[in-house]
Amino acid sequence: MNNKTSEALFERAKKVIPGGVNSPVRAFRAVGANPLFIEKANGSRIYDVDGHEYIDYVCSWGPMILGHNHPEILKSVSEAIQKGLSYGAPTAGEVEIAELINEMVPNIEMVRMVNSGTEAVMSAIRVARGYTNRNKIVKFEGCYHGHSDSLLVKAGSGLLTEGVPDSLGVPKNAAEDTLTAQYNDITTVEKLFEENNGEIAAVIVEPVAANMGVIAPQGDFLKDLRAICTKNGALLIFDEVITGFRLAKGGAQEFYGIEADLVTYGKIIGGGMPVGAYGGRREIMSCVSPLGGVYQAGTLSGNPVAMAAGLAQLRMLNENPEIYVTINKLAKKLADGLREIGEKYKAPISVNVVGSLVCAFFTEGEVTNYAKAKSSDTAAYAKYFIKMEEKGIYLAPAQFEAMFVSFAHTEADIDRTLNAAEETIKEIIGG
Ligand SMILES: *Cc1c(COP(=O)(O)O)cnc(C)c1O
Repeated sequence: MNNKTSEALFERAKKVIPGGVNSPVRAFRAVGANPLFIEKANGSRIYDVDGHEYIDYVCSWGPMILGHNHPEILKSVSEAIQKGLSYGAPTAGEVEIAELINEMVPNIEMVRMVNSGTEAVMSAIRVARGYTNRNKIVKFEGCYHGHSDSLLVKAGSGLLTEGVPDSLGVPKNAAEDTLTAQYNDITTVEKLFEENNGEIAAVIVEPVAANMGVIAPQGDFLKDLRAICTKNGALLIFDEVITGFRLAKGGAQEFYGIEADLVTYGKIIGGGMPVGAYGGRREIMSCVSPLGGVYQAGTLSGNPVAMAAGLAQLRMLNENPEIYVTINKLAKKLADGLREIGEKYKAPISVNVVGSLVCAFFTEGEVTNYAKAKSSDTAAYAKYFIKMEEKGIYLAPAQFEAMFVSFAHTEADIDRTLNAAEETIKEIIGG
């Protein structure tokens, strides 16, 4: 494939940007390839600077649930930019999006807008600590909650991919209040509560783990987490940066019928613009400054252009619930198809699907936890990735990421993807 323009840009980028990218996983290191530089995107398609067209399953890592360049979002943003890009003062859009979030997720009685998922989670943790007057946090191995110091412990996503359990530059004392448990194993959480009686401020979890591939909560795992937090006076924080507004209007809380105390959002909430949010019960969110003593601020928070994008996307989702039916059906077709290909060619492929999130692990047997996810053959995934790219399918450049299905994907897109996957698996098996 001729990727000359991408390669020339990457050479220039590497001189002036660490690794040539502004977020590590984009560098394609996990698959031993060079990144494609993107020219534009539309609907389910993304186009690189060398003129290749791909069916896109990254979808900006989740935000583009309606597909790229949705006309309603473009219209809303175009109208907003005519009026100025930022004021640092309140606007109607911020009230409207907060009211809409409350309508879609009724237990989010108050919400604060920020600029990224990282910021949302970092702030929610501060609120949990301020509210409970405790310091310790429980997180799960392989769950990613952004790159703030206290959460870069046994995190997933790019860190899992690069095999770096922690980050340099995180002071020991910033991480020492972070306790780690095993996803889908409530006994490891019970043990931490026993050992740290009265000291745990919150348990934070990705209700569907989507940064170690895609792993669904098994059995009563989320219900048990809810119960153990309530019993011990700790807050339950759902990090819904991926699942929020994706699994259902009300995200994983609605999908699984579990109410968290605090919820963090990002990705979809900004419609493609940099937005995050955290919210919860009034009583808890009343801790946030200027109402309460937990300080959190942002010069560009609630930016009018970003709010216009997020509002347009959330309104579409709120008013058209059939979107969820459609994308979940497409994702199931994709997952079933990938599973059949694995069976047909006796390839070790284990496929997980939750709503519109799909992951094909290159391993045998059901993947329900971090250890099993880690048993995946990442070299096989790398081969698969490169051959799929050559066939016009743009996948996440790492095994431990989700495939994101959008409302712009069609049955024909899924068929083409499955044909490419079948060809690819045949080629890989043939050597
Ligand atoms: C992406 C992600 C984050 C971080 O969001 P950013 O906008 O990249 O800072 C946090 N939590 C989860 C579950 C995520 O997937």
